[in-house]
Amino acid sequence: MDSMGLARIVGFVALGVTLTATDAPGQAGDSAPSRIVVWADHDDDDADGRPDGEQTVVPPPGRVDLVPLPARWVGAVLQAVSGGDHARVLAGSSAVPLPWGRVVPDPAWLQGLTPGTVELVTKGAGGRTRLTIEVRGIDMRDGEGELVDMARSHASLERTPPMRVEGPPDANYDDPDALRVVMSVPDDGPGLDGDREISVDSLNAGGVRVDSMARLPLAPSGCPRPHANVRCWTSAPLRLVIDDVDRDHPLVADRSIKAEVGGGIVLRSEGRKAQMIRVLGPRKLPRDLFDEHATSPPTSIGRLRATLRPFVVRVVPGGAPAIGGTDAGAVGALRVELVAASAIWGQCGITFGDVKQVDVRLVDPPPSHLVAIGDDLGISASGGEIRLRVDGKAISVPTVSGETPDRVAHDLARFAERMGLVAIVSPNARIGPGLAPSVDVSLRRRDGALVSIDTMPGVPLSTDATLSVRIGSVDLSDGLQHFTDLDAVAGTLEERTLLKALDDGDPATIEVVVVPLFAGGGRIGESFIGSDLSSVRNVVLLDRAGIRARKSSLTLAHELGHVLMDFPGHPDDYGVDTPTLLMDSDAADASAFGPRRITLQECGRVVRHSGPKGRLPLLADWPIGPIPISSVPRP
Ligand SMILES: [Zn+2]
Repeated sequence: MDSMGLARIVGFVALGVTLTATDAPGQAGDSAPSRIVVWADHDDDDADGRPDGEQTVVPPPGRVDLVPLPARWVGAVLQAVSGGDHARVLAGSSAVPLPWGRVVPDPAWLQGLTPGTVELVTKGAGGRTRLTIEVRGIDMRDGEGELVDMARSHASLERTPPMRVEGPPDANYDDPDALRVVMSVPDDGPGLDGDREISVDSLNAGGVRVDSMARLPLAPSGCPRPHANVRCWTSAPLRLVIDDVDRDHPLVADRSIKAEVGGGIVLRSEGRKAQMIRVLGPRKLPRDLFDEHATSPPTSIGRLRATLRPFVVRVVPGGAPAIGGTDAGAVGALRVELVAASAIWGQCGITFGDVKQVDVRLVDPPPSHLVAIGDDLGISASGGEIRLRVDGKAISVPTVSGETPDRVAHDLARFAERMGLVAIVSPNARIGPGLAPSVDVSLRRRDGALVSIDTMPGVPLSTDATLSVRIGSVDLSDGLQHFTDLDAVAGTLEERTLLKALDDGDPATIEVVVVPLFAGGGRIGESFIGSDLSSVRNVVLLDRAGIRARKSSLTLAHELGHVLMDFPGHPDDYGVDTPTLLMDSDAADASAFGPRRITLQECGRVVRHSGPKGRLPLLADWPIGPIPISSVPRP
């Protein structure tokens, strides 16, 4: 049949209207069969983890690909002459399968199961007619040539720089994420000549279109293994990419579409939905990522959510925010960073949720609420007295020879609590050359407000000759004193005074803090990770230069990588310089070949350390639900 006729039939199916006079079967007796095209329904529109075509009851969200049976066959008996296993009828308000040979009730739908042709005879009030159901198939194939189950597996975001794919449409290729689309059409039907194409819609989890591709050409090819008596057409490997930089690169622009974790890729033929595949994390994790004793190590990554607490610090109390010029500008600027970082981590199936709505807090630099005991080297006391003022009231704490910083800190806390204050004692990680950890004491009022600590006029803070005691203060006008290799695990006193003021005590959240600038130049971002065993952990600090460098260095995403992997190193520390990797230490390039890729090993490391079963679960499983979607696209 010519393509016009095919289009008309597909149009009929799409609209679900009753047959027109030209296409209608004869009114009585045997006649030319009418033909309905349906798609084998092995995607998972109701997101229950099972192919829709294998469900015994199909709830409404799973019915997207069902085709209502024309009203004229309601009340008739449908008898399968051949190919009855390629499709089924679902009937009644719960859409349960109806065996062939039964009277069709109202409502009833056709559902394709596997590619092939079903020949039916209908017997009923209108007499005897013939009906052909042509079941077409859409499958996805990966770079190793294996079929990707549209329901039990998923698609993943691109982790490979743009590259050319050569060879015939059946050829394998070296890209673990891109997938070919394969269309199968029964080889006894019409429309088997020439090339074909499909259109592609990329939707987010809420059903909103992220991107679309009007034309993905399909070329004649071999067919996937299980299908028989079909002819097949296959596309170039389709890349699901995170942003325009990847989408528009000339090497891959004709086969790239933007996508989001939790969303879906809808493949359409002549406008009508054929099948869909969900977009989640990497499909195949290498087995050797998890040690042999791990019970049921993950083999793929679905969707994982990290909870971020973003802050922009003002230069001075009540002053301008570190970035953005105005309060609204600061919130907007940090949200742009978070959107970009969330998209990047989508390569591992990780999202930071609806970051366009996330609460960004603007905060003043804190008052001097923190006293560090044994600061730096953690040398014990030799006897003396600590004297300080809290909100104008004097406290004096005696020290005894041999007391550790921890002991003295708890004494100070007890004295402060007697004054009606709340004291939070937090040890720091022992820094390289230190004898013992230093210990911080943060003082607050009962309502949680930080108090201001200072020295008494003319009186030294401490008379102890060996125990170092310092009051922390934050002065951002000269830049934040950042850690060096020596004190990286604990952070500087100024960093701790800032970050301990913002800490919510929840080890499962990640604080993202933007300051005006780091002192000394050079530093634009840093992170405090879990394995440092410090009381400051799972924090990313950025300055405005780090924000400015987003396009070329993705500073926020990089620093979050250190936190999520719980690893301070960089791949290039070990001599392998791969400037396309996000975790490269010094790459800066705003193109698709810039530092933006995350390896499977790195995704696995993130799951091992920060996943729901990790040592410090920063990531929670976030199961997907159905995407609101219709068979024909909304205008
Ligand atoms: Zn780094």
